[in-house]
Amino acid sequence: MLIKGVSLIQGGITVKGRDILIEGKRIEKIGRDLPCSRSDEILDGRGMLAVPGLINSHTHLAMTLFRGYADDMALMPWLTEKIWPLEAKLTSEDIRWGVKLGCLELIRFGITCYNDMYYYMDETARTTKEMGLRAFLSGVVFDSKPQFKAEAESFIKAWKDDDLIHPAVGPHAIYTCSAETLRWAADLAEKNNVVLHTHLSETEGEVQASMKDHGLSPVDYLDSLGLLSPRLVAAHCVHLSDKDISLLASRGVNVAHCPISNLKLAAGIAPVEKLLSAGVNVCLGTDGASTNNNLDLYEEMKVASVVQKNACSKSDALKASMAWKMATESGYKALGLDLGLREGALADLALINLRRPWFTPEASLISHLVYSMPGEVDTTIINGKVLMKGGVIAGEDEILVKAQERFEKLTA
Ligand SMILES: [Zn+2]
Repeated sequence: MLIKGVSLIQGGITVKGRDILIEGKRIEKIGRDLPCSRSDEILDGRGMLAVPGLINSHTHLAMTLFRGYADDMALMPWLTEKIWPLEAKLTSEDIRWGVKLGCLELIRFGITCYNDMYYYMDETARTTKEMGLRAFLSGVVFDSKPQFKAEAESFIKAWKDDDLIHPAVGPHAIYTCSAETLRWAADLAEKNNVVLHTHLSETEGEVQASMKDHGLSPVDYLDSLGLLSPRLVAAHCVHLSDKDISLLASRGVNVAHCPISNLKLAAGIAPVEKLLSAGVNVCLGTDGASTNNNLDLYEEMKVASVVQKNACSKSDALKASMAWKMATESGYKALGLDLGLREGALADLALINLRRPWFTPEASLISHLVYSMPGEVDTTIINGKVLMKGGVIAGEDEILVKAQERFEKLTA
């Protein structure tokens, strides 16, 4: 495939009229006037900006089915009164259409990979692969459902060698998993060399309970159990002491910052500037569509930036370039992905139409991407395959109808 005449951002500068040659799953060459062979599919990139795939580093994709179902509540009553009772009724068919709905949204926002923790991971993996996206998937582990542990092991075995699906291990949180379960999760991830994914220090209540039960902060507690390492993606990390931040940095933990979910649940504002100053790899996630309520990382970048500026009373806090890095390179680093708009990288990218009011005047494109652009992209390519072109995704109408049907059945 050859993308002709596209604009790119290289080293913070916009360059125009470049071609991108994709051979199989990878970017073969980027340059001017690249020759095309007769077999090449040609995409006209004129008036478009090519950007690398974005990474949603923390979500629960099938929760798109619960979008708008229970808003304006605090985390614990939201979970116990609304979400958990509905989740108890979920079938793999619900998951299938919830995941498809989520994949549609990710494709529309140019997000080429997501890091998920939820139920029915085999169905999630099959459906994600069918939709053509890349994903890191962990079946959620709770003490109340011991069978999930056995499922986690067989899921890793089944998907370990897939090129799009990366199995991971997902202990839900310190307040739903015992010390034994948390240690088991760390060992399983280590043994199989996969990502470990958990929720951490999301609310003040979680910190207070941890101090009471263990005499340690949630971060210290996870460290005492051996979970803090570069393979861990810890979602939220809102309530952290300076000591917690140093520990996360020294252990090489990746933090998935989810500002909109935290703000919507009134959980607080994560100390992102402090984390970044300490050298922590901070990436960006949306959390589930039930607390966001969409999967738009463009919106997430803007909110992350403007909220952090206010939290620090510093208008130069979390600059646009850093927000962009969190949604791209920091996500690649957290998950060990060979992505980016460069020769040799896996071909995950999006084309964005620059002939729009929010890109005019063409001052700084990074600024426009973070502060000005509404999320939708024109074309999304994952693993060298075009999943959306000119805003059209094959099969979208059926997915919208089926997702609506599943929602009505679940809430009837
Ligand atoms: Zn979450």
